Order: sequence, then C-alpha cells, then structure tokens
Amino acid sequence: MSVTGKQLIGGQWHTGNGGSYMATNPANAEPIGPELRFASKKQIQEATLAASLAAPAFAATSPDERGRFLVACADEIVALGDELLERVSAETGYPRVRAEGERGRTCGQLRMFADHIVRGDYFDVRIDTALPERQPMPRPDLRFCKHPLGPVLVFGSSNFPLAFSAAGGDTASALAAGCPVIVKSHNAHPGSGELVAQALVRAAEKSNMPAGVISFLTGEGNDIGAELVTAPEIKAIGFTGSYRGGSALFKMANNRPVPIPFFGEMGSINPLIVLPETLKASAAVLANGYIGSLTLGTGQFCVNPGLVLGIDGPELNEFIEAIGAALADQPAGVMLTESIAEAYNRGADSLAGQPGVKRISAGADRNSSPGFCGQARLYSVTAADFVENPALQEEVFGPCSLVVKCRGIDELAQAVSSLHGQLTGTLHGTDAELSNAKELVRMFEQRVGRVVFNGFPTGVEVSDAMMHGGPFPASTDSRFTSVGTAAIDRFIRPVCYQNSPQNLLPLALRDDNPWRLRRLVNGEWSNDAI
Ligand code: NAP
Repeated sequence: MSVTGKQLIGGQWHTGNGGSYMATNPANAEPIGPELRFASKKQIQEATLAASLAAPAFAATSPDERGRFLVACADEIVALGDELLERVSAETGYPRVRAEGERGRTCGQLRMFADHIVRGDYFDVRIDTALPERQPMPRPDLRFCKHPLGPVLVFGSSNFPLAFSAAGGDTASALAAGCPVIVKSHNAHPGSGELVAQALVRAAEKSNMPAGVISFLTGEGNDIGAELVTAPEIKAIGFTGSYRGGSALFKMANNRPVPIPFFGEMGSINPLIVLPETLKASAAVLANGYIGSLTLGTGQFCVNPGLVLGIDGPELNEFIEAIGAALADQPAGVMLTESIAEAYNRGADSLAGQPGVKRISAGADRNSSPGFCGQARLYSVTAADFVENPALQEEVFGPCSLVVKCRGIDELAQAVSSLHGQLTGTLHGTDAELSNAKELVRMFEQRVGRVVFNGFPTGVEVSDAMMHGGPFPASTDSRFTSVGTAAIDRFIRPVCYQNSPQNLLPLALRDDNPWRLRRLVNGEWSNDAI
C-alpha cells in the first residue's frame, strides 16, 4: 500500500475531512504527491475515543505479547523496503544512508523495548508481606507495581522522520508500557509517517492487538493541537520540537481541567568547553571533529554543539582559525522545511546583531544551492558580554556556533554558571586538565542531562544507560529521558494494593510470580515465588 494521505483512526484508514496539503521536497522545493487530507476535529475525537476503548485490553496484554507486537512492528517497517527510504529522502533531503541509519535505529529501539519489558524490571515490583504480630501495630500486606497511564499523544519531530516520529522513541516506549498511541505527524514528512503507520497497523493485526492501539493523524498544529492536548481521553504527551511550540503545548496540558504529564524535549545549545593544554596538543584534530559534529545533518540536531567556551589565548585562537577555515569550505546544506530554513536564517541574523558578537567565518551562501538551504556560520563573543545577555543562549537550529572567549578559568566557570538547562555538556581536556576540572563537572551535573568527555554530543546511543533530557528549557521534566529504555518510565505510574486477595492482583504481584520477575520482597531481591 502506497501513501494515500488518509488518517488512521481505530485501525481503519479514513479520508481526512479537514484541509488539504502537499508534502514538499526541501532539496528542490517541488511538491510530492499525493494530496493529503488533514483530520477534522470530529475525526480527532473518534481517534481519542478509539484509543481509550483499546486501553484496558492493551494494558492487560502480557510483556511477552507486547514484546512480540513491538518486534512485529520492526519487521513490518523493514518490509516497507525502498519505498520508505525513498520517501524519507524525498521529504527531508536526507541522503539514503541517513534514511537507512534512522530505520536501523527505529527498528533497533522497538526490539530493545521488547527485550526490556520481557525482562520485567520496569514493573518495579515491591512487596512487603503482612506482619500481623508486629507491635504496636500490625503491618498490612503491601504490593506495588507500575501500570500504564492510558492513551499517549505523540508529536513527531521534524528532524527524525523515523526515529522520533510515527514509530519513534516516544511511540515505542508508550506501546512497550501498554499505552495506546495517537501520533500527530509532523508536516515535514507526512508520507514517511503514513507508511510507517501502515506497518504498525499490519503488526497490530498480526499480533491480535486491539484496533485502537495506534492512530495516525495529520493536520496543522494550531488547528488540531489544542483539540488533541485537551481531549479527556489523552493521559500523557510526548513532544520533540521547538521551545515555542513545546512550551505552548506544555501550558495547555497543565491548564486542562485534569492536567496530564507533558514530556517535551525542546532542544539545547550543548556547550562544549575546550581547555588550553588539549588545544595546544591537538587543535587541528579537535577542530575537524567539532565541524563534523556542528554541520552533521545541516546542524538539525537537538544535540548540535552550538556553543564553545574556551580561555582566550594563542591556543584558542588557533582553534578558532581552524574551525573558521573548515567552515568556510562548507556548502549550503539542505534544511528540512522552508520555515525551518527561514527560522535558522532569522536566528543566526539575530545572534549576529547582538552586542559584542563578532563574525568569524561562514560557509557558502544559502542561495548558492537549490532548495531550502542554510549557511554555516561562526561567531565569537567575550564571556563578559555572554553572561549579560540571555539572547545569546537561544537555540539557533542549524549549523551556527558561538565561541565564548573567557579571560581565565574563573570567568569560564562564571559563564558555565550562567547557562540555562541543556541536554548535554562537553569537556575537552588532557588527563591532567580533566582531573582538575571537578568544579566544572559539578556545574554541568546541575545543568545538563549528559556530560561528555573528549567527544562530541551528536550520535545519541539508544541503550539502557542513555539520558536524553535535561533541566528546563531543554526539557519540561528533567527527571526523565526520551531515549533509551528508561524512557518507558514516563508512561507508567505506581499503584499499591493493600491486603488484596491473590486473584485480584496483577500477575506481576502474585505469590507464584508467574513471569519469574525480579522483585523486592521484604527488602531482598528475589525471582522466586513467595
Ligand atoms: P515545532 O514548531 O515546535 O513543531 C513540532 C510539532 O508541534 C509540530 O507537529 C507542530 O505542528 C506542533 N506544534 C507546534 N506549536 C504548536 C502549537 N502552538 N499548538 C499546537 N501544535 C503545535 O518544531 P519544528 O517544526 O521542528 O520547528 C523547528 C524548530 O524546532 C527548530 O527551529 C528548532 O528550534 C526546534 N527543533 C527542536 C528539536 C529538538 O530536538 N528539540 C528538533 C527539531 C526542531 P505544525 O507543524 O503543524 O504547526
């Protein structure tokens, strides 16, 4: 089945009753057929109702059953073959190798969540058996485990057409938790999203999952976003995108009559500290690595390193010269959409116009290539000007970077202490420099979600130990990650049963421990029956 432009509601495809829309190839500004029809408000209500009807049956599936469903999702996505890869490249301007890599990541994370839920640790089972003889008061039998929240709304991101869209990390972790998902597709790649949604429906049918377990809707955020966020059936939201969009939706979620958790990942400027001795030893190598990370995917990554902090002197100047020279050779890169290219251009112009900001270098002009392009840009500013001006911390989504020149380690620490919440913070130093950098590391711990040593923040591993999030404004809840197995924790909540009869307990809590889960029983870890 090819792209139809339809809406997926409760397992059935329907022609949208909202406005119409054509996807665009950002590499040549040409429209890509077929014409798509947006969802109407009534269709949104049908989708949220279908998700809510599916929720109890889906929550009752075993980890094994859901694990098989997640693996089937991955298999069906792979089975889409070239059609998916070609559609992704056409809608995003990404080369085929990136589309293939992202498909691998997407399917890998679906399989990873399947393994994770079958292992069962996420239930976080705690059992304190009754102590009827305890004085002065007997202890009741208490049993605690995590339950799915219910239907989850996912806003697909613009820059990950597969890995953070219809079947991306938010969807995979919500389905793994046992929550039906409604995807609000990103208009940058509606056809890629629809093909993936078709794969998910096939997987749901083959795995006997309830029909409303996945819905896929397209529309303008301003038209359908509020309807979705305020629908009473929706119990949690995953979002990846801009600070502006994320904070507007976050407020909406909090202002509902019944507020719900909103997990927004809203980007970051990802500070990178370069210490002088390491620059003395390897300025050229570092400069190469830095430019590679900054311009990867035309800088359209939330972990793009948009801020460099260093101590003013010949070493930093040599580094700046090297990155400036490398940047001057950069062609204008294709950006995801016309509006993202325009926003990048406006953001970089605004940065350039801030007090004390000096231009170092720029790549080829954005009009030198066809399509919606962005010019790589590099600026510098003194630490004194940086700490005074919060506008210098605004994310410029694209290949743009600001170097902050500090007069010494104290001023560097002052600049770091002025930073807002970030997804990552990176430190480059020799062994001796790093061993003296405890204070900088402590400061990063308070401001970022992931501390990187002698590396670059791009290339987010999907694994058990990954943390992708951070203090506001990087994300709306610094306690959670949107990448890696811990992402499931966003969509489950604890319920405790006091003196419950065995047959009313969830299987995870029963004495016979039918899934052989690792449980904390009276303070001791055990896989045994009680
Ligand atoms: P965006 O504008 O925040 O949009 C993301 C999604 O949210 C889209 O589906 C959008 O719908 C919807 N949306 C946004 N504002 C809304 C509102 N007020 N009400 C209802 N729905 C709303 O993000 P984007 O399209 O990716 O825009 C690019 C900007 O986002 C970049 O310039 C960059 O700053 C940032 N970005 C950050 C990340 C990250 O990883 N954190 C990733 C990509 C982009 P519509 O598109 O239909 O309006």
